[in-house]
Amino acid sequence: MKSHYLAVETLGCRVNQYDSDSLVDELGRFGVQPVQTGIDPDIVVINTCSVTQKSDKKSRQSIRRAARKYPGALVVVTGCFADLEAEWIKTLDGVDIALGSQSSSDLPGLIIEVLNLEQSGKESLRPVAVRSDLKVQEGCDEFCSYCVVPFARGEPRSMPLTRIIKDAERFIDSGARELVLTGTHLGKYGSDNGDNLVDLIGGLFERFDEERLPRVRLSSLEQGEIGRDLLELMCGESRLCRHLHLPLQSGSSSVLKRMGRRYSGDEYVESAKAFAAEVPGVMLAADVIVGFPGETDEDFAQTVEVVKAAELSRLHVFKFSARTPTAASKMAGQLSQEVISARAEALSEIDMSLRRAHYRSALKRPLRVLVEEHDLETQVTSGMTDDYLRCEFPLNVGDLGETVDFQATTLGPGRGRELVLQ
Ligand code: SF4
Repeated sequence: MKSHYLAVETLGCRVNQYDSDSLVDELGRFGVQPVQTGIDPDIVVINTCSVTQKSDKKSRQSIRRAARKYPGALVVVTGCFADLEAEWIKTLDGVDIALGSQSSSDLPGLIIEVLNLEQSGKESLRPVAVRSDLKVQEGCDEFCSYCVVPFARGEPRSMPLTRIIKDAERFIDSGARELVLTGTHLGKYGSDNGDNLVDLIGGLFERFDEERLPRVRLSSLEQGEIGRDLLELMCGESRLCRHLHLPLQSGSSSVLKRMGRRYSGDEYVESAKAFAAEVPGVMLAADVIVGFPGETDEDFAQTVEVVKAAELSRLHVFKFSARTPTAASKMAGQLSQEVISARAEALSEIDMSLRRAHYRSALKRPLRVLVEEHDLETQVTSGMTDDYLRCEFPLNVGDLGETVDFQATTLGPGRGRELVLQ
């Protein structure tokens, strides 16, 4: 039987990463191996992103590069860019399959059919991270005025429970000990089939004991989607991480309205405070977009105020990027790149000081760390607390996937802008 080697380049979000990993697993059962040094791949997949103009540019470059570099390979383009730019992709030589994210589950079957692959009878040997994303939902119908995702990913769909459990089992069997529940819009899980997130989490804990599944984390939820039942579960079940990622986007109520968001700055602060009061020690994080059309200095100042009043510990700052065909791309008052960059920089500084304060607050308290990595070169073991603090200690203090007790004494610089408790 001919050997097949697969190279996958993944751009963008966790959902894309999950889809790429699933493709590797699925094709692995048909004998396709991940590409190795010195061998050219004969299947090349570019899983694209289209969330900003920069992502579009990167997607275009990656597709062109793959088509040019591997003329003999089956070149496949998937992801949001393939949904939104299908016509442009059709004009390219060297791309054999383009299938958008809405049909990503059909992709393995299509590749298997085109290459006439046969089942190998073996499970995929792809190594699974200790902290692994588990996709439970796809799609969004909110149509926030800046967001291209609903155009690319389509209506919300929940993954069937049987599939979620099967995936979870496979990940846990391969070494995952923290599952991060992920979706295009996680809070829409169950909106199409009557399931709900709280039952799903409870079901996972029932199915897998603490040794097999010591942690579940939620990737991102809108503040209006968090009910008392979820907060109670977070309080009473130590395996559910005390970490809520609550997209804010802006603190200005007039900007939020034009964004098509369903809350005001004050409502966001109120919710964040209520969550912190209900779940002691919960870590709150947020996405913020700066430079939305018409955002004034006063609007931006309100964002800064809300970030501080909500007592967030971490921000993900995004510069507004006008995306066709969103409503915001046609709005009056588009801001210059200079203004957008200056605001992004100012907010990133605030993010850094929030992170530092959060890390410092952990210096004197006992921590429970899930061991994720042993780095033989630096002789360092690293892992995360449930409230998302990266910790490092001497090599071999714990096994991979083990939860260990740790008391940090110093706050050190980690890789890049990251901080780390040591
Ligand atoms: S920002 Fe989130 S909620 Fe709004 S349309 Fe995009 S994916 Fe949906």
